[in-house]
Amino acid sequence: MTTPQPLEHVALAPHCTPGVGGPARFFLEARDELTVHQALAWSKARGVPFRMLGGGSNLVVADAGVDALVVRIAIRGITTRQIGGAIELTAAAGEPWDELVALAVERGWAGLECLSGIPGLVGATPIQNVGAYGQEVSETLTALRALDTVTGHVVTLNNAECGFSYRDSRFKRVEPGRHAILAVTYRLVPGGAPRVRYAELARHLAARGVGTPSLGDVRESVLAIRRSKSMVVDAGDENGRSCGSFFTNAIVSAADADRVARIAGDPALPRWPQPDGRVKLSSAWLIEHAGFARGHREGPVGLSTRHALAIVAHDGARAADVVAFARRLTAAVQARFGVPLTPEPVFWGLDA
Ligand SMILES: Cc1cc2nc3c(=O)[nH]c(=O)nc-3n(C[C@H](O)[C@H](O)[C@H](O)COP(=O)(O)OP(=O)(O)OC[C@H]3O[C@@H](n4cnc5c(N)ncnc54)[C@H](O)[C@@H]3O)c2cc1C
Repeated sequence: MTTPQPLEHVALAPHCTPGVGGPARFFLEARDELTVHQALAWSKARGVPFRMLGGGSNLVVADAGVDALVVRIAIRGITTRQIGGAIELTAAAGEPWDELVALAVERGWAGLECLSGIPGLVGATPIQNVGAYGQEVSETLTALRALDTVTGHVVTLNNAECGFSYRDSRFKRVEPGRHAILAVTYRLVPGGAPRVRYAELARHLAARGVGTPSLGDVRESVLAIRRSKSMVVDAGDENGRSCGSFFTNAIVSAADADRVARIAGDPALPRWPQPDGRVKLSSAWLIEHAGFARGHREGPVGLSTRHALAIVAHDGARAADVVAFARRLTAAVQARFGVPLTPEPVFWGLDA
């Protein structure tokens, strides 16, 4: 068995949706698990850091690039098995996420429908517990297989071991980069009703005259809403080069939420009470009320014309421009409302 040889100095910008950033010192595409093992052994033998890349839709790479072996995960394959009344769907890490959602919806398996249209690959969905429109993968994910890059062993982690919370997990902040995720299992409900928890989704379905929505109706509405906000990857979209939301929604104390409403003079401040008594605020609203309108441009970067949470890289933008603009947004929101914003993407070689 020959060990695959990594390529050298491979541009990462074309592999990332914002289209910015420098090269990987070493780069390898892994179409099977053996290649991931061999890549890890290769990087350990040379003392080169090891990093995993999926669809590059939640990643900002420094302009100087990364001095690492970047392994682009391209392992495909889907298996299903019936367990009692449920379906366990296991997908290899390189499966395109939205194709998996489409398959589940088509088969009538409930549990992923609101996550339609999220870019990227299956293997990244546990990293930040991807979520949208009232659903998160942590609600259906039962297990994942990963190569532990510290021990070199393959481990199976159950849901509790993933440490999921809002746009976060053990893999994002506690032990970033430790686990190379190989496959993920989701437990879905055949014939289950779709999740319609999110007011905007309910309104969209009602406007379409859909009384009792099917999974397909929900997928269609989610995709339409996402398109109207440039939240699907579309090459022809002027807002296309982004990581989607650049910040998570801010979660603050009830007293802080009241303070923000007072400062803005807006009692209609959008707020979502959390089970622990805190309140989730719309970071898009905070940015807009701190003086940055949708479409605001600063040189080659700016806010999306359709959503104030997305930072768009235009022609000539560098990663440094994206990050500097993000810092200005953070500082303005902090100065006006005293609320810190938390960046959502992962940064390689950069501090956000
Ligand atoms: C237009 C747009 C809309 C978006 N909307 C949403 C949304 O609604 N909800 C949401 O949650 N996110 C959203 N995102 C963010 C992004 O799509 C998701 O976070 C997605 O899961 C990232 O997948 P990826 O394969 O592109 O990961 P990448 O960007 O390639 O990687 C992200 C991180 O995951 C790690 N990683 C990737 N694959 C693996 C693996 N197999 N093993 C270990 N680590 C791995 C990388 O090292 C990196 O740290 C959006 C992005 C865009 C561009």
